[in-house]
Amino acid sequence: MENWRLGDIAITRIEELIGPLFDPVRFFPDYDQAAFDRHQDWLYPNHVDPRSGNLIASMHSWLVQTPDHNILIDTCIGDDKDRMPYRNWHRMHTGWLSRLPIDPTEVDFVLCTHLHVDHVGWNTRLVNGQWIPTFPNAKYVFSQAEFDFWQAARSTPDPDTFNEVNNKTFDDSVLPIMGLAQLIAASADLIPGVMSVSPAPGHTPGSSAITLTSGQQQALFTGDICHHPIQVWYPDWNSAYCEIPDQAIATRRAVLSRCAEHHMLMMPAHFGPAHAGYVDETASGFEFRFTD
Ligand SMILES: [Zn+2]
Repeated sequence: MENWRLGDIAITRIEELIGPLFDPVRFFPDYDQAAFDRHQDWLYPNHVDPRSGNLIASMHSWLVQTPDHNILIDTCIGDDKDRMPYRNWHRMHTGWLSRLPIDPTEVDFVLCTHLHVDHVGWNTRLVNGQWIPTFPNAKYVFSQAEFDFWQAARSTPDPDTFNEVNNKTFDDSVLPIMGLAQLIAASADLIPGVMSVSPAPGHTPGSSAITLTSGQQQALFTGDICHHPIQVWYPDWNSAYCEIPDQAIATRRAVLSRCAEHHMLMMPAHFGPAHAGYVDETASGFEFRFTD
């Protein structure tokens, strides 16, 4: 499924790539094979690759079209970018922009849940050797805390390869759009009554969650609060990329509770098909129900 409706609002998934990207043993520091085996009935093949055992991850953006605005949430990895030593993401050409069903000039807001490499890439594109904003008429929205964190990281030598890649990302996908940026101090009613941004720290210090409302219906764009649906059942499992582990767990539990209590459609950044769904809270914990 690639299209969802929330009242008079259309939501479309714009895929950049999908595949068995991550070894679960490395991805989840608390990985437990027995815990995985309890979920065999739904994990394969959409969420774990039966051949390699790797976690299926999707890289996609969400295009939200209200009667008045076009909003893009998270912008994947991007084309042409120097992402070495991440060979698979280096100087990609995925055709993502051609899959966007509207003209880039028609995008009103670009929201980045956080500033990791796979959430900001299409903020810019390469034209005549320069990184220019892909969406010249948009406001690019993300949290001030997130910007401050990566700006400080940028000026601190760090041998970690993931941070090295994120530093390159900051230079080619964040700095060139700062003339169009709107930085959020805490929470913000971005489009009153329709879309709001709230802090969801832990995966990164300035991670945000985005609430979409249409009448009685709500969706929550959760970025990397959960990378993989198994974390709904095991919310104490962080990814190896969560910057503040204890806070990431607390935020994950709070967000799952909120989705369950208010029957919000949860729209994460990386779940395999069907990519989005609803959270149920039971006596034994949380469960996830993908949309049909
Ligand atoms: Zn991500």
